Amino acid sequence: MALIVQKFGGSSVANAERVMNVASIVTDTYRQGNDVIVVVSAQGDTTDDLIEKAFELNSKPSKREMDMLLTAGEQMSVALLAMAIEKIGCPVVSLLGWQAGFNTTSTYGTARIKSIKADRMKAELDKRNIVVVAGFQGINKYDDLTTLGRGGSDTSAVAIAAALHADRCQIYTDVEGVYTADPRKVEGARKLPEITYDEMLELATLGAQVLNTRSVEMAKKYNVEIEVLSSLNKASGTIVKDGSKMEKMLVRGVAKDTDVARISVTGMPNTPGVAFRLFGKLAQRKINVDIILQSVGRDGTKDITFTVSKANAEDAVEAIRSSFDLDEDAISCDTNIAKVSIVGAGMESHPGTASKMFEALFEEDINIDMISTSEIKISVLIDANDADRAVSAVHKAFLPEE
Ligand code: ADP
Ligand code: ASP
Ligand code: MG
Repeated sequence: MALIVQKFGGSSVANAERVMNVASIVTDTYRQGNDVIVVVSAQGDTTDDLIEKAFELNSKPSKREMDMLLTAGEQMSVALLAMAIEKIGCPVVSLLGWQAGFNTTSTYGTARIKSIKADRMKAELDKRNIVVVAGFQGINKYDDLTTLGRGGSDTSAVAIAAALHADRCQIYTDVEGVYTADPRKVEGARKLPEITYDEMLELATLGAQVLNTRSVEMAKKYNVEIEVLSSLNKASGTIVKDGSKMEKMLVRGVAKDTDVARISVTGMPNTPGVAFRLFGKLAQRKINVDIILQSVGRDGTKDITFTVSKANAEDAVEAIRSSFDLDEDAISCDTNIAKVSIVGAGMESHPGTASKMFEALFEEDINIDMISTSEIKISVLIDANDADRAVSAVHKAFLPEE
């Protein structure tokens, strides 16, 4: 008998018909003799709708109350799925995050899983129950409910698979697997039979929403192989796994991220310690900085430009204003930008990849604002209005249709 963890995202449980469909996938797996733990997300757009409801009342709700609200979405899903499974005639129990033993850090909204006390889940499996667990949530040391950040149900599933040494971890979604680019937006995007943890990690970080970044980090850390597949058909999916035995592809995929704000600070003194002071202030406010560019400006001054997520932009500007004596127009913030990236383990040993990407953009007359590279990715920052065209052009250059 195998232990199988199956996770179903919001679109897979969006309405009664879809919930019934999930119940039939789960019970088929169970009736083949397996132990099954199912992780579910909130139905359809429920999480977004709850956020909207909160903001109707208060534009700055506390993070604690936000988590109290958002965990309700997953609470509905687990109960509904359990009822659908009961209807089919299999024994089932639904559990909230805390009942499943998810202990997290205290940071509301972006809590991290500290440990999973799996006794209850194990006891339910011993009773031959199908265990349906609410994704995206846990409990902190104050006995308050916490959430793991948007898309966090993927992480819940991988964490259970790691903690219980599951034989399989299947992430069911509304596309057939991981593609070379978002299959809903890019014509010619192809399904990948497999992808390495490192490549998937980059793609997820750079905007491919199909798997949550932390879930991939965790899968890599505990060597959990993830199978990404569709809840709507039986096509084979994508395996995310260790890359040591995999063929290195020059470019495995193209991703787009529009959650980027670029902040430029001009006329800073060109003296030691300025960057340290500036980024130190941002670190104090727990603001993550992505691409950084520094250049020497006029009259012994320097200019520093960097990117943060849109949610942090206002806070970052405020942090700099309050710490440096700068002219009103010395700081600018642009949110109409996008980051387009290529990812592939093969580019490490393949010169000319960057120039080929820049050529594809040049041919589309797309201007590049900033560039950042690592061993297995190249990202460019461009005008948001050019982003879709850029993704298509770069995808065509590196991953032409076969
Ligand atoms: P779920 O609700 O199942 O968690 P998500 O909406 O979080 O699903 O993620 C699935 C979506 O990710 C797909 O519908 C697709 O549009 C998008 N996506 C973006 N990039 C990719 C990619 N490279 N491969 C597959 N899907 C992608
Ligand atoms: N419901 C949560 C969200 O919309 C978690 C998830 O879908 O994984 O972000
Ligand atoms: Mg998701």
